[in-house]
Amino acid sequence: MRVAVIGGGINGVMAAWELARGGRQVTLFERGEVMGETSSASTKLLHGGLRYLEHGSFWLVREALRERSWWFSQAPHLCHPLRILLPHYEGVGRPRWMLGVGLWLYRILAGAANIAPHQWLGREQALEASPDLRPEGLLGAYAFWDGQMDDHKLGLWAAGQARAAGVEIREHTAVRSVSLDGDLIADTGPKHFDAIVNVAGPWARKLLDASEIPARHYLDLVRGSHLVVDRVCPAAILAEVRASRRIAFILPYLGKTLVGTTEERQTLEEPIACSERERDYLIRFHDSVMSTPLEPGEICSTFAGVRPLLRTADDPGKASREYAIERQGRLVTVFGGKWTTARSLGQKVAGVVAKIA
Ligand SMILES: Cc1cc2nc3c(=O)[nH]c(=O)nc-3n(C[C@H](O)[C@H](O)[C@H](O)COP(=O)(O)OP(=O)(O)OC[C@H]3O[C@@H](n4cnc5c(N)ncnc54)[C@H](O)[C@@H]3O)c2cc1C
Repeated sequence: MRVAVIGGGINGVMAAWELARGGRQVTLFERGEVMGETSSASTKLLHGGLRYLEHGSFWLVREALRERSWWFSQAPHLCHPLRILLPHYEGVGRPRWMLGVGLWLYRILAGAANIAPHQWLGREQALEASPDLRPEGLLGAYAFWDGQMDDHKLGLWAAGQARAAGVEIREHTAVRSVSLDGDLIADTGPKHFDAIVNVAGPWARKLLDASEIPARHYLDLVRGSHLVVDRVCPAAILAEVRASRRIAFILPYLGKTLVGTTEERQTLEEPIACSERERDYLIRFHDSVMSTPLEPGEICSTFAGVRPLLRTADDPGKASREYAIERQGRLVTVFGGKWTTARSLGQKVAGVVAKIA
């Protein structure tokens, strides 16, 4: 069976790999370079997503926590467990009991894949772990474990595994349209496949529109930006953004500090780049948590990506991070999908393709 996979982000690569492992003859089309878009612009966390518990996405969190340990087992040179502090300030944000219940649930959902138990650190212990934390009103911090990766390198590693399993990867080859019968028109010309898998991330719906194919699912596109700061970060921090329900991260990354992220509606026609507004927002967030203000001169670079969010709520900030796989004839389209869960998404895609005669 010949299968075309469109999109060389992590979800396309893992779908292609899983299909090849199942004996399919797979060609992956990527209009730019593999891992050239969203999949290299993430917060670099292999995580269950503590925040998604508030949206009731228990199955997704469970799946992601288990997938986290699969990545650790397969590529320990490109990802590792990361201890994260969740500081708690008097009168700010969610109550301590709620954070504790969330972390308890997180641990239960992880099951055997849990890295280590979370613990409550008193004020002095928290300041010892992260000496620059703002001390005013600090009551202490929860310390819990998640995973961190080099998303670009780990994605390229996965692409290497897919190639080794027989996937033909064609970079710089855009697909212009697809049909429900297995016909595909790429820059290089038309071709017929037994199945086509559209895993073009934020562009999945656009490809359907260009092909005049209606679908049941929709995507909301939400940009997230990060600042790379030339400062050593002694401890990873997840903190609540003051006067909002949002959370953001201050993370050690390759000897520097990564501050992110934002949530801004985006169209595919706009440039995918960190705006001045987001930059200011992230600096304000940083300064609300750390004592030493972030000087603009310390920002060595910024990067941004667009989340392909399956539309599940009017407010994309409240949308779950669940994904959907829709099959129409010989065409399978993926809507959404986190980095961490790319392998299990790929396995499900392979299961759907197996039903195509
Ligand atoms: C700011 C931010 C932070 C995030 N942080 C995390 C995190 O810490 N952990 C986590 O698990 N997830 C995280 N995510 C989510 C995760 O990064 C994305 O959901 C995931 O990378 C999407 O991968 P993808 O393969 O679906 O899309 P992409 O990586 O965007 O890949 C789609 C590919 O399709 C190609 N393409 C598009 N149209 C065509 C066409 N017509 N022909 C050929 N190729 C085409 C594009 O060039 C692109 O390379 C984050 C997302 C963002 C934006």
